[in-house]
Amino acid sequence: MEIKENYSLKALNTFGIDVKARYFAVFQSVDELKALLTFQQQKGIPRLIIGGGSNILFTKDFDGIVLKNELGGIAVVSENDKNIFIKAGAGELWHNVVMQCVDKGYQGIENMALIPGCIGAAPMQNIGAYGIELKDVFYELQALNILSGEIENFDLARCEFGYRESVFKRKYRDQFVILNVTLRLNKIPVYNVSYGNLHQEIDAKYKGELSVKNIANAVIAIRQSKLPDPKFIGNAGSFFKNPEVDKEKVAQLKSMYSNLVSYPIDNQKEKLAAGWLIEQAGWKGKRIKDYGVHEKQALVLVNYGGSQGKDVYDLSTSIIDSVKEKFGLVLEREVNIY
Ligand code: FAD
Ligand code: NAP
Repeated sequence: MEIKENYSLKALNTFGIDVKARYFAVFQSVDELKALLTFQQQKGIPRLIIGGGSNILFTKDFDGIVLKNELGGIAVVSENDKNIFIKAGAGELWHNVVMQCVDKGYQGIENMALIPGCIGAAPMQNIGAYGIELKDVFYELQALNILSGEIENFDLARCEFGYRESVFKRKYRDQFVILNVTLRLNKIPVYNVSYGNLHQEIDAKYKGELSVKNIANAVIAIRQSKLPDPKFIGNAGSFFKNPEVDKEKVAQLKSMYSNLVSYPIDNQKEKLAAGWLIEQAGWKGKRIKDYGVHEKQALVLVNYGGSQGKDVYDLSTSIIDSVKEKFGLVLEREVNIY
C-alpha cells in the first residue's frame, strides 16, 4: 500500500478534470483502509473515498487524501426457492455485477446495466434507471463507522433510500465507508419494461421476447445511442435531479407550457424531467469553449477536454438561474461537488 503525493486525479474522475490530490492511495482490504484513515487523522487533513469517480465534479485540487476503494469479490451467499443473494465488495464495478447476474439469469438489475462506477457508491444515491432503483433489489450492506472503527450492518430501512437519496448522502455524510453490498435477485422473473421506449426496443430487436439478457442488451443499446461515453467525452451522467413538484404548480406550468413533461409520484407530487426544463431554457447542445451541455441530453454537462471543474460548476449555476427565471423551479445538483 503506497501513499502517493500530489497525485493527478484526471484518470480517476469521468469528467476528466485535471486536479491533484495532496495524497492518494488505493485500499484493497479493511485493514489497509483503517491504516490509511489513521494516517489521515494523524495529519489532520480531509479525506475523500472514491470508487469510479463517475458522480463527482472536482472544482479545485483536493488538499487532503483521496482513497480509492478496490475491495473486491462477488459471491452467492445464500438462496431460497424465490431469491438468490449476491454479495459484492464495494470496489467491484456495478456493470460487471449486473452482467454476472444477467449471464446466470438472476433477475432484478438488468434495467440498470451500463451505469458506471462501483457497487459501493450505488447506495449513496440509490442509483436508478429505466424504472428500477437499487432499493428494489437491495438486501443489506456493511460499512465502516469511521469514528468508532466498528463495522455496522445496514438493512433497507436503515439506508433511508429516496429518489437519488440515502442516509449516506445526508445524515451520515462522510461518516461511513461502504465495504460491501448484498443484493436480493429473483429466480422467478418479474420483468419491468414499461419505461420509455424500452419495450419498443425489445420488440424491434428481440421480437418482444423478454429475458434478463434481452432487457440488459436493450438498455445498453438505448444508453449507448443517447449518452456520451466518458471515455471520449467527460461527463458524470445527469448533473441535476428531476424536480419533484406539487400538483398545483405542475397544473400552473401546464397552462403555460402545454407540452410540459411530468410523471405522477403520489397524490400530491409529480416529477418533472429536468432535461426538458433545461432544453426549454435554451441550453441543449450549448458549447462554451471546451465544456457545455450535451447535444442529445440536456441533463448531462460535458467536458470536451481541458476545461476546469470550476467552469462546469459555473455553467451549472447559470442553468439553475435560468430555469428558475423561466419556470420558478430550483434545480438541485445530483453530482457531488468537491
Ligand atoms: P464516485 O463518483 O467515486 O463517488 C460518488 C460519491 O459516493 C462520492 O461522494 C464518494 O465520496 C461516495 N462514495 C463512493 N464510494 C463510497 C464508499 N465505498 N463508501 C462511502 N462513500 C462512497 N447514476 C444513476 O443513478 N443512474 C444512471 O443511470 C446513471 N448513469 C450514468 C451514466 C454516465 C455516463 C455517468 C458518467 C454517470 C451515471 N450515473 C448514473 C452516475 C454514477 O455512475 C452513479 O452515481 C455511480 O453509482 C457512482 O459510482 P462511483 O463509484 O463512480 O462513485
Ligand atoms: P429519458 O428516458 O429521456 O427520460 C427523461 C426523464 O423523464 C428521465 O429523467 C426520467 O426520470 C423521466 N421518465 C421517462 N420515462 C418515465 C417513466 N415512464 N416514468 C417515470 N419517469 C420517466 O432519460 P434518459 O436520460 O435517456 O435516461 C434513461 C434512464 O437512465 C433514466 O431512468 C435516468 O434516470 C437514467 N440515467 C441516469 C443518469 C444519472 O446520472 N443519474 C444518467 C443517465 C441515465 P428518472 O430519471 O427518474 O428515471
